[in-house]
Amino acid sequence: MHDGRAPHPDRGAALRLDALSQFRPALLCLAMGSVNVVAMPKSRGSGWPEDWWSEWACHFENEPFLTEAEWRTYLNRMPVRYAERDFRKARPPSGFCEVCGQRDAADNPLQVAHRIPFREGVRDLALTPTFLDHPDRLKWAHRKECNDAVAMRFVETVTYLRRLGIDSLPSFLPAEVRRAWDSTA
Ligand SMILES: [Zn+2]
Repeated sequence: MHDGRAPHPDRGAALRLDALSQFRPALLCLAMGSVNVVAMPKSRGSGWPEDWWSEWACHFENEPFLTEAEWRTYLNRMPVRYAERDFRKARPPSGFCEVCGQRDAADNPLQVAHRIPFREGVRDLALTPTFLDHPDRLKWAHRKECNDAVAMRFVETVTYLRRLGIDSLPSFLPAEVRRAWDSTA
C-alpha cells in the first residue's frame, strides 16, 4: 500500500488511512514514512498523564492540505507558529539577509519570513502549517522591507503550487477562493 517515501506535496500521494488513524497513531506514523523518534515518556507532574502525544503528533494526514475539520478549527483560531524555532535548526541564520544580501542589523534584525504568507496559506488555501513552515518556503530576511518582499502574492503562490504538482484546491474551500485559483490558469 505504501512505498516508504517521505510525504510529497502532491494530493495524489496523500494516503487516506482513516480507519487506521483512529486507533493506531503510531502505526499510521510508520505507514506515512515518518522517522520521528518517539521520546521516552516524561513525567509532567501535577497528575497529568505522561507524554503520550509524541506518537500522535507526527503528520497531517492530507498533506499539503488540511482536512475540512482541521481548516475550520484554524479559521476560528490560527495555529501556533513554530517556524523560527525549527528553521533555526534546519538552516541557522548566516548573519546576512537572504533577500538583499546585507548584514543583520540591530535596528533591522533578521527574521523568518514565509514565502507563502502563513495566515493566507492556512485560511485561504487550507495549507498545513508544516507545509508552510518547510525550509524551502522560508527565508531569513530583515524585519523591515525584506520580510515583506519575500511574501508571494496570490498569483505567484498559485504558480508555485502548480509547479509542485498541486493542480486543484480542496472542494470545501469557498467558491470565491476556487474561482480566484481557476482564474490564474
Ligand atoms: Zn534584507
